[in-house]
Amino acid sequence: MSTAFLTSEIPNPTDPMLPHLATIQDVKPTAAGVSTFSLVFANPEERANHCFQAGQFNMLYLPGAGEVAISLSSDPAQPEVMDHTIRDAGSVTRAIGRLKVGDVIGVRGPYGSAWPLNKTLGSNLVIVAGGIGLAPLRPVILSILRQRSAYGQVVLLYGARTPADLLYTDEFDKWRQGGIDVQVTVDLGDKSWRGLVGVVPQLFYRIRIDHKKTAVMTCGPEIMMRFVIYEALARRIPKERIFISMERNMKCAVGFCGHCQFGPTFICKQGPVLNFAAIEPFFGKEDF
Ligand SMILES: Cc1cc2nc3c(=O)[nH]c(=O)nc-3n(C[C@H](O)[C@H](O)[C@H](O)COP(=O)(O)OP(=O)(O)OC[C@H]3O[C@@H](n4cnc5c(N)ncnc54)[C@H](O)[C@@H]3O)c2cc1C
Repeated sequence: MSTAFLTSEIPNPTDPMLPHLATIQDVKPTAAGVSTFSLVFANPEERANHCFQAGQFNMLYLPGAGEVAISLSSDPAQPEVMDHTIRDAGSVTRAIGRLKVGDVIGVRGPYGSAWPLNKTLGSNLVIVAGGIGLAPLRPVILSILRQRSAYGQVVLLYGARTPADLLYTDEFDKWRQGGIDVQVTVDLGDKSWRGLVGVVPQLFYRIRIDHKKTAVMTCGPEIMMRFVIYEALARRIPKERIFISMERNMKCAVGFCGHCQFGPTFICKQGPVLNFAAIEPFFGKEDF
């Protein structure tokens, strides 16, 4: 056996495809079929050097099950603990859903683009989320709460299919007390629901918008985002100030495999957060 062959078999710690071990520090049931996993890198040096931005995602790897893209849902100002809010969607997410505190998982990342929190300093913000789409926007909300006076009016328009599908409901009061106008709706109420019933884009009718000073950040099902964009444009918010987070089936997350191609962009590299003005020709087209 040649030495060259042996050398090539030694894992390179800077290899972008190499997962790094992280321990599950906490598991919190967050909504029906959704839990939030708080992870910390096992290696103290990795833990200390780690940082991420609001909107980025990690690839979570479970040996024998596979690897999935999951957004970071915690505060970027506390990067040593990485929250991931995960919905049981299929084989890998279900296998991760069975893990317990103290179990170990592989993490690659953080990857992708971030919400434009710096570019929108001083603006009014309309944050619009549907279902699990609130997960990548929670770091935005937590960042704003830390420097609330740096932004104008901040509104969260959030909806889910049923009350049981709403994420982070135990945090809404704190977000309201911190100066964020939280408006919530569900498609279908239950006996205990006293809130609004209707789809998320309808919440636009409940707010006043100064189109010259407002930016929109949205994440959720594509059909929801299409109507959110329609409502934002109807209120004369410029395309350049509408930002959306796109999801596509993802494999490598580093621009090699092409699974997440969307028009001329790779969601893993140029996205997931994209400016609507840049992707308008492809958005909502079936083949993209
Ligand atoms: C950038 C990014 C961030 C994400 N963030 C989160 C998150 O914070 N929380 C979370 O729960 N999920 C998130 N997802 C979706 C998550 O990656 C998928 O649910 C997961 O890959 C499903 O894998 P699985 O093996 O469990 O199910 P599979 O059996 O692979 O899939 C189950 C079903 O979900 C569909 N599906 C798989 N991936 C996607 C996708 N990306 N978009 C739409 N449908 C898909 C499949 O076509 C299939 O119908 C994110 C995806 C991307 C690309």
